[in-house]
Amino acid sequence: MDRVTEPKSTHSASAGTGRIEQLCIEKGMRMTDQRRIIARILSEARDHPDVEELHRRSAEVDSEISIATVYRTVRLFEEAGILTRHDFMDGRSRYEETPEEHHDHLIDLRSGRVIEFMDPEIERLQEEIARRLGFTLVGHKLELYGMPIDDE
Ligand SMILES: [Zn+2]
Repeated sequence: MDRVTEPKSTHSASAGTGRIEQLCIEKGMRMTDQRRIIARILSEARDHPDVEELHRRSAEVDSEISIATVYRTVRLFEEAGILTRHDFMDGRSRYEETPEEHHDHLIDLRSGRVIEFMDPEIERLQEEIARRLGFTLVGHKLELYGMPIDDE
């Protein structure tokens, strides 16, 4: 029995205004066309893209978007708490929309693929360890790194 469940996607990309763009508007951020495109691409991303990948996707929509603009925009969104940055030991920062529900990550070292998971047992254990050390747990970051087990 596998108790590790894949969380429901919190990256609900509805047609029109995506969640990230909505959050930007709520925070009173000035939304240029380029920022809007980058926001939409981030809202639609199911993976955890890095800046280069975001630039590649953005440039497909608007070839005028420079990598510097993508850098500035993700930093702006990150500072506003809309985006979460991850550094998965491969030297490139990856981004995802700040999830509403907590999840952890497993990184496939062969392909670089990022798998999201949530395990109630791990969550419970971490709280217990913190309590044992005299703390109330307020957060954690867990990253697993693995090589795929070959089927044959
Ligand atoms: Zn994630």
